Amino acid sequence: MIPFNKPVLTGKELLYIGEAVASGKISGDGIFTKRCHQIFEDLLQSKKCLLTTSCTDALELCALLLNIKEGDEVIMPSYTFVSTANAFVLRGAKIVFADSGSQNPNMDVDTIEPLVNEKTKAIVAVHYAGVACDMDKLLALTQKHKLYLIEDAAQAIDSYCINSAGEKKALGSIGHLATFSFHETKNIQCGEGGLLAINDEQFISRAEIMREKGTNRSSFFRGEVNKYGWVDIGSSFLPSEVVAAFLFAQLENLEKIQNKRKELWNVYYDRLSILEKENKIKLPFIPEWATNNAHMFYVICNSIEERTQLIDYLRSKNILSVFHYLSLHESPYYQPKYEGKKLPWSNYYTDRLLRLPLYFELTVEEVNMISNYILEFFK
Ligand SMILES: *Cc1c(COP(=O)(O)O)cnc(C)c1O
Repeated sequence: MIPFNKPVLTGKELLYIGEAVASGKISGDGIFTKRCHQIFEDLLQSKKCLLTTSCTDALELCALLLNIKEGDEVIMPSYTFVSTANAFVLRGAKIVFADSGSQNPNMDVDTIEPLVNEKTKAIVAVHYAGVACDMDKLLALTQKHKLYLIEDAAQAIDSYCINSAGEKKALGSIGHLATFSFHETKNIQCGEGGLLAINDEQFISRAEIMREKGTNRSSFFRGEVNKYGWVDIGSSFLPSEVVAAFLFAQLENLEKIQNKRKELWNVYYDRLSILEKENKIKLPFIPEWATNNAHMFYVICNSIEERTQLIDYLRSKNILSVFHYLSLHESPYYQPKYEGKKLPWSNYYTDRLLRLPLYFELTVEEVNMISNYILEFFK
């Protein structure tokens, strides 16, 4: 059986966890957390990076930091994971869903401006499959209307966008705040884990406090205050050193992991491109401003029926392929509250997008075999 995903392991995880345990400091913000923070700050050129217990938690921190409250509106794609929306719903915000584009599942930025009004506080850009949204246009829009820009970069580690000035910027380094996920389904993982990247300095000290239960414990440990106490609202958002040690082992191998994923991605793309030419499927589209971090390889079928048949066919060959998000504006939770327009492109990806196995241990031979079966299916 070829699974859809197999979490990557580098071999050093248990060694570093052992070191964390032996150090006697197993709660958060110890030596491994600091090492991870440094690597991320270098990688992203971000003002401050803070490990969190998940990307979901990092998104909740964003909503707290922006003081999102009842009556506020937040714009985001409907084709995304529930956590993107839940974080803001928990603070009482109304979610205004934008449609995906025709070329890939990212938000169609040209449809966003009519959704902005005096209640709008923020736009959340989700870089689907690690492919950059049109950040030049989004930045122009958020600057014009004085909105916060948040990047849900859960899938976007080691991915970049090239702006109109020709500068290459890491995804997660552009919005005021950005979040990453290290869930076991992501390119680098620690089971459950996340990161908040802060690109606007005004949020740094409050983020440290909110992540530490609303206390100024971080400044206390830096010797800036002589006792720590309750100074703001907050919760427990920091992971233990056991988790940070695991993640550090993965970060050391980021390049190796990424090279393998990209190699496999390219084999899929080359082998299946004939089907795109024959209009049997569509392949991932990467705009000229974006790079590919090989987070995901998907195909877009011509109908939901054909997708179901392809899933069943691959399963009969012991290969697991899976569809992805169900439009949030039509979800059982949000549909009764949803007042916006129809979002046909979001529903298009809901019905037709199919993700193929892609993980570090997968081999080129296996990708060739999977591709052969898909070619055979369409014959
Ligand atoms: C994985 C993912 C999340 C959630 O990440 P967790 O670390 O599991 O909380 C949020 N948004 C997107 C776009 C994701 O892909």
